Amino acid sequence: MLTRFVLGNGERIRFWEDLWWGDQPLGSQFPRLFRVVLDKNVLISSILGSSRPFSWNFNFRCNLSDIEIEDLEGLMRSLDGLHLSPSVPDARFWPTSSSGFFSVKSFFLALSHFSGSPQVFPSKFVWKSQVPFKVRSFVWLVAHKKVNSNDMLQLRRPYKALSPDICFLCMKQGESVDHLFLHCSLTTRLWHRLFQLANLDWVIPRSIVDMMSIKFDGFGASKRGRVLWQAASTAIIWVVWKERNARIFEDRARNSEYLWDSIVFLASLWAFCSKAFTGTPPLMCYN
Ligand SMILES: [Zn+2]
Repeated sequence: MLTRFVLGNGERIRFWEDLWWGDQPLGSQFPRLFRVVLDKNVLISSILGSSRPFSWNFNFRCNLSDIEIEDLEGLMRSLDGLHLSPSVPDARFWPTSSSGFFSVKSFFLALSHFSGSPQVFPSKFVWKSQVPFKVRSFVWLVAHKKVNSNDMLQLRRPYKALSPDICFLCMKQGESVDHLFLHCSLTTRLWHRLFQLANLDWVIPRSIVDMMSIKFDGFGASKRGRVLWQAASTAIIWVVWKERNARIFEDRARNSEYLWDSIVFLASLWAFCSKAFTGTPPLMCYN
């Protein structure tokens, strides 16, 4: 029988192998993901960081397949309500002894503790955005350069690369995450339109992570302004990815006018369905 642990700061419990969340170790709950993690003994704090928002430092041996991405979404959704407590050590749970009381106490302490921490990874952009979960998860993958863009395929599985060094949006430079979502001429035009709409001058950042980390406040610093800006930026990333896939796998290409319309539609839809816009006339909501 496995020892159950109660989470404190996550510095002693192994993320995949120990029993601490649910009825089984996470490695057994998510066997497909467990198979591709690099370090099976990794501690919770190494993956999540020391506080919310979590840094989600999963270290996979290879890029994830669609089914693995779905598993990952499920895992992250399941851990979404979790809180780490930096000042409380992890503890063993003894259900039948009196020391069980301490564990329960530390459990509640763990639940009640919050603290902010400096962010390198744009967690706020990724996890605070009011967009559907699958979109948020995808943006997370983009920020971690975990999507299967061509240059990664080249690196990991050369025989599987589609057309090496060709970006299907501009048919020019090599396709990397930064190129696809930022520097590609088609994508840059879409970003440019967003900044034009907001009446903002901008310089194209070095990387998509920088883009996510900079606070542009393009539609103002109000709650609604921020939600809208985040929804619009996320919609660009999402629509570009869908377009890239449509061109590769369905042999279908839409022009940038069409893409821009989709971006405006999605951004308004997501924003209007968010808490910040409660009370405004509803469109329809995503599920
Ligand atoms: Zn391109």
